[in-house]
Amino acid sequence: MIIDGHVHMWLRPMYPDVIINAYLEPWLAMSEFIDMTKEIEESFPTSEVRPELLVDSMKQAGVDRSVILPLDFGLVQEPKIGVEEFNDWIFESASNYPDKLIPFMGIDPGRGEQAIRLMRKYFSKFEPRGIKIYPPNGFYPYEERLEPFWKEVKDMGLIVVSHAGASWGPLDEEKSRPIHFRSVLDKYPEQKLVIAHLGGKYRADTYELAREYDNLYTDCSALQGWLPSEPQVVKDRLSEAFSVMGDRVIFGTDWPLFDLAYPYESWCSFVREQDICSEERREKLLGGTMRKLLGI
Ligand SMILES: [Zn+2]
Repeated sequence: MIIDGHVHMWLRPMYPDVIINAYLEPWLAMSEFIDMTKEIEESFPTSEVRPELLVDSMKQAGVDRSVILPLDFGLVQEPKIGVEEFNDWIFESASNYPDKLIPFMGIDPGRGEQAIRLMRKYFSKFEPRGIKIYPPNGFYPYEERLEPFWKEVKDMGLIVVSHAGASWGPLDEEKSRPIHFRSVLDKYPEQKLVIAHLGGKYRADTYELAREYDNLYTDCSALQGWLPSEPQVVKDRLSEAFSVMGDRVIFGTDWPLFDLAYPYESWCSFVREQDICSEERREKLLGGTMRKLLGI
């Protein structure tokens, strides 16, 4: 079974304007793909990312299941559709594809009591296995005000997926450094934490923590940004990750964010077919480890 551990779904009003514009930066850099004579709003290639599109892409790429990570940017700027309606939509949409889509919550821990209330709501209704957080929105994981959040995460036995590395626009990239999780991992040694994108530019942090904490995982999403021109960089990064973290590396795509630059299907084939590791390890990378984490 192939599991994509990192995909997104959204409708345009669920993201604030400031984020839509910031996320456009990388696309603007490839402006040959975008017709600059059109309004930005029209040009944003993926302003409606619905479950039908995801399931269709998965089918074409040979992916069996995907973990959906909603992104709550509401504390950066309030979007037209708020965090609760966004998460409602994620869970309701995913419930139409119970054998394919695995929704996590996307709630900013900085919301305090509201975050706890929402987590309890979704947990009692849908029993999600995890939550996505985005520190560059404005928090350090170790902050005292987040203590109730971490306790709730522990009580629910949630996997936490955290963004790490490149962050655009008004976001504070430095807050995404994996090293900021050290005291959380000390306090909650059982906490399963997935650092997205190998940690990106902060991957040395990921590896430093991974050497000390067995419950630290990472996903390789966004690495396809180096393709097709620099396949060796992708191979080198993967082999570095395997050498430190072994089977704790999870396949992910960040779908649909890289689709214009390098098609989903091609990235899936790359990981499935290229000489990047033993077949045994590949099986764990492509789904075995995530299955274990999810308990499926
Ligand atoms: Zn992502």
